[in-house]
Parts: sequence; C-alpha cells; structure tokens
Amino acid sequence: MTATYEVIDPATLEPVGDVPLHQPEDVERAITAAQGAGRAWAADREARRAALRSAADAVDAEAGDLGRILSLEQGKVLAEAVQEFRVAAGLLRHYADLDWAQSETLPPRDGRQVQVQYAPVGLVGAITPWNFPISLLAVKLAPALVAGCTVVAKPSPSTPMSTRALAEVLNRFLPEGVLQVVTGRGVLSRALSEMPGVRKISFTGSTEIGAAIMAQAAPTVKKVTLELGGNDPAIVLPDADLEVTAQRIVASAFRNAGQVCMAVKRVYAPRELGGALTEALVAAAAALRVGHGVAEGTTMGPMHTSGQQQLVKDYVAQAVAQGGRIAHGGEHGTSLPGYFLEPTIVADAPAGSELVSCEQFGAALPVVAYDDLDATIEALNAQEFGLGASVWSPDLHRAHEVASRLEVGTAWINQHTVVELDAPFGGWKGSGLGRERGRWGLEEYLEPRTVNARAHTD
Ligand code: NAD
Repeated sequence: MTATYEVIDPATLEPVGDVPLHQPEDVERAITAAQGAGRAWAADREARRAALRSAADAVDAEAGDLGRILSLEQGKVLAEAVQEFRVAAGLLRHYADLDWAQSETLPPRDGRQVQVQYAPVGLVGAITPWNFPISLLAVKLAPALVAGCTVVAKPSPSTPMSTRALAEVLNRFLPEGVLQVVTGRGVLSRALSEMPGVRKISFTGSTEIGAAIMAQAAPTVKKVTLELGGNDPAIVLPDADLEVTAQRIVASAFRNAGQVCMAVKRVYAPRELGGALTEALVAAAAALRVGHGVAEGTTMGPMHTSGQQQLVKDYVAQAVAQGGRIAHGGEHGTSLPGYFLEPTIVADAPAGSELVSCEQFGAALPVVAYDDLDATIEALNAQEFGLGASVWSPDLHRAHEVASRLEVGTAWINQHTVVELDAPFGGWKGSGLGRERGRWGLEEYLEPRTVNARAHTD
C-alpha cells in the first residue's frame, strides 16, 4: 500500500487531507503507462479536442467544490480559488478551439517538395509551484494535450490535493495513461526531469530550481520550458493619477497575499510624488481584510509557508533598519495561528535593500523614490529578472515609449498582472525560457519534422 502524507491549511495549521507519498518507482510506472497510451492519443486530433471541451464543461460545473479544496490547502480567498478552476476551463476550451496546422507545404523548388509536419513532443513532465497550482498547471496541460502529448504532473508537495481533484475530473474524459499525477516530497521532485522516457519538462517555479532542472534534464537532452521568478516594478510617471494608480497597484501587489510571480513587487515613484502616492497606497491597502480564505469577507489570506512569511518579515525589518518606514501593516493581523502578515507598505525603501532587489514573494510592497527615469530603467534592465513591469501615466504615447525600453516578457500600461489567452507570457533573462499561452504556448509541445521529397527518377 502506498504511504501517505498530510496536507496542512496555512491559515489554521490544521491538516486538511492526505495524499500518496509516491516514490521514484511510481514515476517509472507512470512513464510506462503514458508510453502505452501515447500513440493512440496522438493519432486523433478531433477526439482530443472533443475530450478537452467536455472536460472544460465539467471543471466549470464543479468549480465551487474544487475551489474549496484549493483554498483550504493553499490559503487563497475562496472566490480566487474558484476562479483558478474557471481559468483552467477557459484554457482547455481555448486550446480545443485553436486553429493550427498539423503540416504546411513550402513553395516548390527544383523538383523537390518540402513539407513541415508538426508532431507532439511526447511525454511531458509538468512541474508546478504552490501559488497557482491549477491555472499554472492548466496553461501547460491544455496545449500539451491538444498537441497530442501525454502528461505526468507533479504539483508542489504542499498543494497536491487540488491537482489530484482537477485530474480526477479530466480523467473522466481522457483515455487511461494520458494524464497522471504523482505526489510526494524530496527525491520525487527530481525524478521526472532525470528519468529517460520523459521528452520535455514544463516547469513553473523559482529561478534556482529552474536552473537545477536544466542541469538534471541535460543528460537525457530533454526540452524545457521554464516560467521562473520575477520582481516586477511599477514605474509611476510624474503625471499619473495617484488614486487610480494606487488602487490598481494594491490589487496586483497583494493578490494571493503577494505570492504572484507577475505581481507588482516594488513601486518606483518620482521623488516629489513619493509621499502622496504612499498615502494613496495605504488607503487602498487599508481596505483589505486579512483572514481565512474560506471565511466570508476575507480579501487576503495567509502566506503559504512559514519560510515565506519569515523571509518577507526579515526583508521588511532590514529595509526599515536601512532607512525605510512601515507606512501600513507589518503585524500578524488576525487571531488565527497561520502564516499571516498584514498588507505591508514600506515607504522610502532604499533601492539597494533586499526588499527591493530580491524576489520577496509576499505581502509587502516597497516604495522607492527615483530622480532620473532613464537611470532607473537602466538599473532595472541590468537586474537578473525580466518577467514583467508596468508604466503608469495618462500620456499613452510616453508610456509606450518607456514600455518599449523594458527588458521584460510583459510590459503593462496603467495595469499589472493581466494576461491574455492568445498572447505569449514568459520571462526574459533569469525569468525563464520559452513561452506559454496562445499559439506560442502550443509550439512548445510540437516537434517540427521536415519531409523533403523528390521523384524517384527525374
Ligand atoms: P519552487 O521552485 O521551490 O518549486 C516549484 C516546483 O518544483 C515544486 O513542485 C517543487 O516540488 C519542485 N522542485 C523542487 N526541487 C526540484 C528539483 N530539484 N527538480 C525538479 N523539481 C523540483 O517554487 P515554489 O516555491 O513552489 O513557487 C514560488 C516560485 O515560483 C517563485 O519564485 C515564483 O516567482 C515562481 N513562479 C513563477 C511563475 C511564472 O509564470 N514565471 C508563476 C508562479 C510562480
């Protein structure tokens, strides 16, 4: 019998369920089952599309119950957890409906006929983090499945239940072996990227683990897509409307208790506006209600781990020691024992403090004063991360000009953390390799085959 381990609610620290503690042998078995299912699954695109559409309807219909499982194990607000499943359903439908050619013929030349065919990559290992366990899996699953790949998913050890629940719904419509989930800790993490038979690893998580996966996947020359960390700046220009800007920045920065790769993680304000913008940010943050994700009225849950909570607290304390000031928050904010931190705004944050220069991934937001916009952009571009950034100004021409100089996968104007089904999402530099979403996301799961033919005798 497979051993199990407990999953904990990060708000109450109470157990919420048990999942299998799989071992590398279980991953081997999953790979063998996927290989058995692969050929038939790859053969019929219309059958795949139909299965994904039916699965999307079922996920939508059960999103309420599924979302509760996610909220309890992850900590996020119930409505946001339900929304993750709706996003998953939307992604399944988007890829089921996407019009893509399985082959194309190039212009004829000197009696040769050249065709490019697109075949599924094969078995994909999908490795996901704990912050958006469902939408980040769906953005891999939907294109991989529609391309004709099989998938073994490995969720974060601390959020396995929602992934298993999603797979249970999908597997009502998929042939056996096409989608499997392995759950566990420690050695299990490395298995998919190291074992032969897996053709591709699609990973979302930290830059550190992404780099480790590249190394682990190298001996077996696996393809990799890596969606990694970010430290997105919001660059406020002198003519910005402070109230609207502050409200939208706060909505991005504290969503999911700030544990969003593409959230605003730091605000750059013209020095003369810093005070007024901080006041507006404080007013917006004061409206948030910290509590249990499933409780009525909660608008921000806990952070997901004690390590994450401590890291953010340490960064805040260090920024204060270096001259910053807590303008809002900084306390636990609830009587629950979990990993809480009130939405915390640090004014006058030193540009060199770790709260500003590292990916803090939590409920804190530093405001940094700038004097020279060009120098600020240059300094931001010199940094390791290149996931996203936003520019805030009513002058769209000026905002576009600034956006065009940012070395990031997504540059937002007067908004942040908005993604599209049909536009590529991913990171430059240390923030990743490859793209997800739209046709770019599909291409990550297809291998081109060039068939170059001439007549037998000519
Ligand atoms: P993490 O990198 O610690 O873990 C991610 C996944 O990798 C987990 O499933 C984990 O068990 C697994 N893992 C750990 N060691 C492994 C190894 N050696 N080989 C293979 N897999 C291994 O990330 P996390 O703490 O779960 O999530 C937070 C991080 O994810 C942040 O850095 C955040 O920015 C990033 N993230 C990025 C995006 C994006 O789209 N760019 C989205 C969400 C989160």
